[in-house]
Amino acid sequence: PQQRVYNFSAGPAVLPVPVLEQVRDEMLCLPGVGASILEISHRGAAFTQIIESAEANLRKLLDISDDYAVLFIQGGSRLQFSMVPMNFIGEHGANPGKSGDYLITGSWGKQALEEAVKVGPCRAVYNSKATNFDRLPAPFCAGEATPQYSDDAAFVHYTCNETIQGVQFPGEPETGGIPLVCDASSDFLHRKLDVSKYGLIYACAQKNAGPAGVTIVIVKKDLVASASDSLPVYCNYNTHIEANSLNNTPPTFAIYVVQLVTQWLLDTYGSLDAVHKNNAQKAKLLYDLLDESPDFYQGHAQPECRSLMNVAFRLPSEDLTAAFLSGGKQHGLTDLKGHRSVGGIRASIYNAMPIAGVETLRDYMVDFRNQHA
Ligand code: PMP
Repeated sequence: PQQRVYNFSAGPAVLPVPVLEQVRDEMLCLPGVGASILEISHRGAAFTQIIESAEANLRKLLDISDDYAVLFIQGGSRLQFSMVPMNFIGEHGANPGKSGDYLITGSWGKQALEEAVKVGPCRAVYNSKATNFDRLPAPFCAGEATPQYSDDAAFVHYTCNETIQGVQFPGEPETGGIPLVCDASSDFLHRKLDVSKYGLIYACAQKNAGPAGVTIVIVKKDLVASASDSLPVYCNYNTHIEANSLNNTPPTFAIYVVQLVTQWLLDTYGSLDAVHKNNAQKAKLLYDLLDESPDFYQGHAQPECRSLMNVAFRLPSEDLTAAFLSGGKQHGLTDLKGHRSVGGIRASIYNAMPIAGVETLRDYMVDFRNQHA
């Protein structure tokens, strides 16, 4: 098809049309360069300006202080599952022998912990697996356990938005001073964060910040400074801090698109508070409908922790789910199939999904319910 659809993919995901248009327009020739972004040195003046601007935009959007480095790393968020424990608690890390505490509120946190235990003593201090990851610890969900952190914990890891289950923390867990490490892959830049509450934040770009190929890491430099040179060079945060993310050839195209996306956020919204307001409005359109039709559309997440980014819900039967998906396609609504571990439908409505796309989905859901309920 030649016409763009409303693409609800969980990632890689929808990008802002003005960004795609700029990529297209500059594909043969970056202004003033005479070659494309794909063809120029990562050490030349043109790319230096792009990566510095991407970092400056992120610092501006999130108000990041100089105590923190902003890094562009390859290997996806999954490499961070390993790099975090290697640098914090592994035998060559900054606190060898100490432990890591994990809040497991969905599939990604579970996988992060599975990797971390290969490096050092890490454990779950909260796990909502028994209810198929539909909730958060207290105080976010009343009646749930309050995590008890280990005396020797060097960090607490959590996943602020579980992409598959559509479960999101509305704020930061309280850790009593233990550095907080956050996998923000699927809601990065969807709201303003107080970065000073974190030791480290990581986010692969391919949901809210750009294309696949780059992962943004915001790390408080003093927490990792004493990691040893015996770590594999690429896996040592200090390598990337000292080399301004240019130790080896970085994913230049992906960083270029991150620069464009962050510029689009600044030019369109001015601040992440405005971005958040827009996201809350979009998500409300869908959650209001779930609440209106609980017998037909059953939301996965408990109401206190519904994600503004990934809206996961089920229909009354597999047949209706299949009919919903194929009918959606005919309305130009694609990639709505839920992850197999949750089933049903998942609508990912990241920053770049226009409100018109969510309204079209909502209207389709109303019609579908009226026809089949
Ligand atoms: N964490 C979360 C929350 C994710 O959504 C994803 C990707 N779906 C990952 C980690 C893994 O990211 P990557 O594929 O870049 O390794």
